[in-house]
Amino acid sequence: MLDRKQILNKKRIVIKVGSTSLTHPNGKLNLLRIDKLVRVITDLHNAGKEVVLVSSGAIAAGAGKMGIEKKPDDKIKKQALASIGQAELIRIYDKFFEDYNNTVAQLLLTRDGIEETTRRRNAKNTLIELLTMGVIPIINENDTVSTDEIEFGDNDILSAMVTSLINADLLIILSDIDGVFTDDPRKNTNAKLISKLTSEDDNIEKFIFSSKSSFGTGGMTSKLAAAHHCFDHNIDMIITNGSNPSIIYDVLDGKDVGTYFESKKSVRA
Ligand code: GLU
Repeated sequence: MLDRKQILNKKRIVIKVGSTSLTHPNGKLNLLRIDKLVRVITDLHNAGKEVVLVSSGAIAAGAGKMGIEKKPDDKIKKQALASIGQAELIRIYDKFFEDYNNTVAQLLLTRDGIEETTRRRNAKNTLIELLTMGVIPIINENDTVSTDEIEFGDNDILSAMVTSLINADLLIILSDIDGVFTDDPRKNTNAKLISKLTSEDDNIEKFIFSSKSSFGTGGMTSKLAAAHHCFDHNIDMIITNGSNPSIIYDVLDGKDVGTYFESKKSVRA
């Protein structure tokens, strides 16, 4: 019996992709990978799934455009690069999705916006309407007015909040690491990938071992904060490696890839 059989029925899915999964090590956008991601999402869409994409990569795209090789430490510079890069990022998504006959929408959200009742309702209504229209919403944090994600999360927490906002069935976080390990895999070759964690597992923070890449922000800390949000809202979440976006098919086939955060609802199913 497939251990993750609950995943097979997931219909409304949020896919979060981090900056490092969208860029080459030199920080420039990895167009082949973005194209593959777009192709997989289109395929899921054609198969009747509703997909929302939460994509970082604006700072990286802005840095690439301005010929800056290392993400600046200065917050205001990051905000400026994000505003330069967001236009470029969405232009590329729009072009690639259009090649596959899909329409996209850009939504720039903030965590505190989602927490405030009226704005929360507006964001939810817009997202649901877009899904009803068969459009792929592409979300990033509005880095001009909020620095939550550029300072702490690289959109991990925002994606979890969007997942609960629209009552989605599953959050897939595509990262530059295969999932959660028993120890830091970059330092300990005996570190094992953890296949499943549940809200009953105490202190999942013990699996935070640092290591951030130059264009990502949150590392495992913000991913586990996202996992807590999903546990609290009874939503399943998976962290897996986004270097080959076809892994999304394996995730949705219930295969044992990445780390599965099984919600209480799925444990009971
Ligand atoms: N919103 C930011 C971006 O799109 C998040 C990335 C980050 O913090 O590295 O670039």
